[in-house]
Amino acid sequence: MGRYTGSVCRLCRREGMKLYLKGEKCYTEKCPVHKRPTPPGMHGPRPSRRKMSEFGMRLREKQKLRRIYGIYETQFKNYFQQASRVKGVTGTRLLQLLELRLDNIVYRLGLASSRKEARLMVAHGHISVEGKPVTIPAYQVKPGQTIGLSERGRRNARIKELTEAAGRAAPAWLEAGPDRTGRVLTLPGRDEIDVPVQEQLIVEYYSR
Ligand code: SF4
Repeated sequence: MGRYTGSVCRLCRREGMKLYLKGEKCYTEKCPVHKRPTPPGMHGPRPSRRKMSEFGMRLREKQKLRRIYGIYETQFKNYFQQASRVKGVTGTRLLQLLELRLDNIVYRLGLASSRKEARLMVAHGHISVEGKPVTIPAYQVKPGQTIGLSERGRRNARIKELTEAAGRAAPAWLEAGPDRTGRVLTLPGRDEIDVPVQEQLIVEYYSR
């Protein structure tokens, strides 16, 4: 399946909540979730008389998480399989794998206004891990590793603008330096991952 190229705001309206896919616009009054809080499509504004099935609820939860992190279906399934192979709570492990993606960490550090922008910054060689440029957005950062700007990234006007603006506070598991460089201190706990999903439903979706 190819990458989704339609309106990302439509995805938020489909899930009935803000998924913060568009950067600055998500924090303004222009956000369509405020203006048109109904599902997209010609039947969207009508109240549904049908109760959602259990399968439907699990599917929606899986789609929501996949869309938040901007991941293809196959890659998402691989993350799930990876999470289910290791000891611990599968749902939490899945969220940890997604949180430790390099593009997500760039977003968490405030070097990008959305995960999509962060993915581009990594792909264009603006980000380094342990001082070496890394261009793979899915790169798994390990606790103890340091993330910073590459030579190219330091010259980028957009990154300069974002680092000078007052950004979001980094989560507790991520130590943020003054110029938005950072170090992963530990694996994030479930209560430190502010993603509004019921991961147990996703585990049930793949266990059917
Ligand atoms: Fe979602 Fe952001 Fe669009 Fe609002 S502005 S609908 S939060 S992507």
